[in-house]
Amino acid sequence: MVNTMFLVTKKGVIVVDAPPDLGGKLLMGIEEITPKPITHLICSHAHADHIGSAHLLARDGLKILAHEFTARFIKEAHDDNRPLPNETFSGARKEVSIDGERLILEYSGDWHQAGNLFIHLPEQKILTAIDSFTVKNAPFFRLLFSAHVPAYFAAMDQMLQYDFETVVSGHVALFGSPEDVETNREYIGDLRPPPPRRCAWWT
Ligand SMILES: [Zn+2]
Repeated sequence: MVNTMFLVTKKGVIVVDAPPDLGGKLLMGIEEITPKPITHLICSHAHADHIGSAHLLARDGLKILAHEFTARFIKEAHDDNRPLPNETFSGARKEVSIDGERLILEYSGDWHQAGNLFIHLPEQKILTAIDSFTVKNAPFFRLLFSAHVPAYFAAMDQMLQYDFETVVSGHVALFGSPEDVETNREYIGDLRPPPPRRCAWWT
């Protein structure tokens, strides 16, 4: 089960991800809220279980935003269901203003896949951090698929530095809160092995 989010602006709709498990239901859900066109798609990262229905949103003029690493993965995948991003950025941060709505896209390291983004909507106090953790579930799956486990540990601290009330984390039918991130951080902290003790014969 997957989740994602969209934001209605004055002129259109900004969508984060297009998961194939939602398929056409994502479009139906948006149409229930607004008749406005989808103007922007932001790819949280390149994995097909989150953006594998992006082709359903594709139309002339659709802006597809992603980190350049994500664009590279999509290009290498040769998957018609994942159209290539047409607005990419490199580095750690890109702030965009779309019809007066402010979104901050941040790449702080590959805690899940190179190019994975924190997408922060400061006015709405929403943080979208797809595949960062699973709300009210054990994080073994997240740890298993983290590119770099130390980056995964750091990601929990990074998330808690944002001003948010709701976190969209990509799986199960639940949205989270800062307290849920704190619980996950505490849980993985308990799993973390202590640093090796220095032995006399090493020194
Ligand atoms: Zn993923």
